[in-house]
Amino acid sequence: MRIPLDRSSQTPVYRQIQAFLAQQIENGVLPAGTRLPSSRTLASGLGVNRITVTSAYAELEALGLIYARQGSGYYVAPRSAGLTAEGPAHSAGGDWPLWQQELLSRTWVPAQRELDELFDTIADQSVITFGGGLGDKRFFPAEDFRKALHAVLRRDGVEALGYGERAGYLPLRTTIARILASQGVPATPEHVLITSGSQQALALVAQLFLRPGDVVLVESPTYPAAIDLFRSLDVRLLGVPVDEQGMQVELVEDALRTARPRLVYTIPTFHNPTGTCLSGQRRRQLIALVDRYNTPLLEDDFVGDLRYEGRDQPALKALDPGGRVVYMGTFSKMLIPGLRVGFLVAEGPLYAGLLAYKRVTDLATSSLIQRALESYITVGRYQSHLRRAVALYRQRRDAMQRALQNHFPPGAQWTVPQGGLFFWVRLPGELSANDLFPVAIDEGVAFTPGSYFFPGARVQPYMRLNFAMLAPELIEEGIRRLSRAVDRCLGGVRMPG
Ligand code: PMP
Repeated sequence: MRIPLDRSSQTPVYRQIQAFLAQQIENGVLPAGTRLPSSRTLASGLGVNRITVTSAYAELEALGLIYARQGSGYYVAPRSAGLTAEGPAHSAGGDWPLWQQELLSRTWVPAQRELDELFDTIADQSVITFGGGLGDKRFFPAEDFRKALHAVLRRDGVEALGYGERAGYLPLRTTIARILASQGVPATPEHVLITSGSQQALALVAQLFLRPGDVVLVESPTYPAAIDLFRSLDVRLLGVPVDEQGMQVELVEDALRTARPRLVYTIPTFHNPTGTCLSGQRRRQLIALVDRYNTPLLEDDFVGDLRYEGRDQPALKALDPGGRVVYMGTFSKMLIPGLRVGFLVAEGPLYAGLLAYKRVTDLATSSLIQRALESYITVGRYQSHLRRAVALYRQRRDAMQRALQNHFPPGAQWTVPQGGLFFWVRLPGELSANDLFPVAIDEGVAFTPGSYFFPGARVQPYMRLNFAMLAPELIEEGIRRLSRAVDRCLGGVRMPG
């Protein structure tokens, strides 16, 4: 195979190989099932190091464009619904200026965009969807928030309309520090940095720590927008498998020693997508490990306080001996996602570095929204909102558990989550969730296919079901429909259970 390489280019050679092969795959020159040359053969043909080729293959695999068959090498992956790496702009490629066409050859397509497109195809309003990542929007305190906004404008006038403090509105930072303290996370207002959603918190940490080619250790599966973000920065993801107790921390030491990641990103409490909660013992082990290997750890606590049963686990930040852990939280799940208010907790030079990136990214998070949030969210109000949310979502979790138990075919596997928003279901018979999706839509139900959550996106027998957004009757009906879809895919018709 001949691949044109420009050795004087700023683009690393492995990236050039990756881009060339990706283009050939996307153009259909290399159709699905084609066996790629072994890394040894290709490397010697191109006169490059073998590691250069294996890195290119690893990236292509992570993009879901190729897959490895044990002992037999790499093959071009089949295109499956929702997993195409092609964007709408491709069709009009020829008319764009050259520099725009160069952009088209970049293979990175956000999984988030694919997911949006997948859900945009659902025209039928009667489809019951378990696909979202939020709580119930009827639970957002819209009227209270309207009053808070008006009250703040009346109270603060033009003061509320300036940029405000770059680190965030101090009274809000104070409230957040108090809420965190009530949950055992030590924080003072000076260590809290307000961000535009916790997605920006993630981006700031990534910008501060990561450079192209770096390795980030993540759970596998993990949050798709984190995968997208890391991929946009050309960093490599190393996935640690998750079991019922969360990330398999016993595998982390080896990864820290051999891959020397620049960052560990974890969602220890009610993990997205699996709903698992990292055990106390593993939490302590993980902290000890990142301490020993001098590696920063980002703790994403997006729904940590939505616990329905079981013992609270301390946040990793609460176990942190010496500023190893950067903590991020959000008001999106518990309150209102559209406020776009999240926060980071960090100390020392790290805090200063994050604040510097915050300044250059968007100067500051909306001062008006922060003030309104602060006037609404006293510690007491937050706790009472939380109590109501927990009571409501617990019922819905129980409804989904009952419905799965009553209707789902034998062989499907799931664990009842002790908190959070999601069930993570393994389909029976290695049925691919991507193949199930169109049949499920036909039956009038949608879910998020598991493939979007894996750093090396491939067809997966998993699906994520959100139980918090819908009333119990709809959950019951949705799971019935989903069970019918599974049965249809498995080719059997069971007697109704
Ligand atoms: N982390 C996780 C695990 C999430 O699921 C989300 C939202 N989907 C976020 C972070 C970011 O949320 P936001 O920017 O709205 O705070």
